[in-house]
Amino acid sequence: MNHAESLAQYQSFKELGLKLDMSRGKPAPEQLDLSLPLLDALPGFKAADGSDTRNYGGAVGLPEARALFAELLDLPAAQVVVDGNSSLALMHDTLAFAMLHGVSGQEPWVRQAPISFLCPVPGYDRHFAICEALGIRMINVPMGDGGPDMDLVERLVAEDAGIKGMWCVPKYSNPGGVVYSDETVRRLAAMKTAAPDFRLMWDDAYRFHHLGEERIAIANVVEACAAAGNPDRAIVFASTSKVTLAGAGLAALASSPANVAWWTRHVSVRTIGSDKVNQLRHVAFLKDRAGVEALMERHRLILKPKFDAVLAQFEALLGGVADVSWTHPQGGYFIDLLTPPGKARRTVELAREAGITLTPAGAAFPYGKDPSDRHIRIAPSFPTLGDITEAARGIALSLRVAIGE
Ligand code: PLP
Repeated sequence: MNHAESLAQYQSFKELGLKLDMSRGKPAPEQLDLSLPLLDALPGFKAADGSDTRNYGGAVGLPEARALFAELLDLPAAQVVVDGNSSLALMHDTLAFAMLHGVSGQEPWVRQAPISFLCPVPGYDRHFAICEALGIRMINVPMGDGGPDMDLVERLVAEDAGIKGMWCVPKYSNPGGVVYSDETVRRLAAMKTAAPDFRLMWDDAYRFHHLGEERIAIANVVEACAAAGNPDRAIVFASTSKVTLAGAGLAALASSPANVAWWTRHVSVRTIGSDKVNQLRHVAFLKDRAGVEALMERHRLILKPKFDAVLAQFEALLGGVADVSWTHPQGGYFIDLLTPPGKARRTVELAREAGITLTPAGAAFPYGKDPSDRHIRIAPSFPTLGDITEAARGIALSLRVAIGE
């Protein structure tokens, strides 16, 4: 297809007057429907320890909810906290507590300013938003096939005591779908950091969110850190946002005994207790790891055709176009579309004019700046299969037009 043909097809696509929102990786209504039985799953109000879940108490979660996440995260229940409906909120509070109170017995981070975080890119925009809101500087680290560029990471953290942490989405990363290799996990756990109060913010958001038939597992970072003599380095975050209900799920944090004690001390100031009623019904509904995996298989069967539809449109319309590529994720919620340098922003603009709302170009980078203006995050989960197929066609045509301009 030459430029004139791409333009003509783009124009007729625009004239369809579609309105398609693909800006966020939200579960589709039929995915949320899978967890409707959750609403009737409450087996009374009493927890296993006899306490009344309707009342105050349990700032670190119901014992059976902690046990469920312990099984899911392969860690002892005593090292797991279940609280609230959003892992992002737990990440925010972890950094807010570190800023205000410090970690590992060190000065509060706010008194050590300026401080920085390493940010593998492309990455999750809301991680970067937390850093920006708290005044934490961000340093880009390029992502490779098995995780971030570890030679660069090791050099930076060894040199600069102002680098206090690093964001990691270790499995099916948002948006690149990268899976951290065992070697990456081992090096992150063992590397020498100039800062004694360095933290890995281990956002395991897509631990069970496979798209392929293989259930990829990665190394246990908390165990790897303990084995390397850095037991307090990693804090793991997870939630059931994309397992049960994105607005009414459970969130968890897991780490060393010392970090759990640190968290408990500070969180007990902010709450008298977590939502144990929701925790109890989640335990009744999900039961155990096998229950979660069975449910995730049903999600997979809904999501996989949508991802395949996008990939098929891209292959048909963009296959062989110079400097254009895209990821083939084995799990997670995103496809990362790579345009020729300088074309991502314009493509998103053209797509918007044709009725498709995408995540702003650059959003996957700190400060919203993709230095080469190449990445577009595609979120296929929410639209219907028909809409997603159309949207992928519109995006591909937009990119072809942008390239030809
Ligand atoms: N972490 C990552 C990497 C995500 O992609 C998302 C949602 O898209 C979240 C966290 C949000 O998690 P939660 O709903 O538990 O706050």
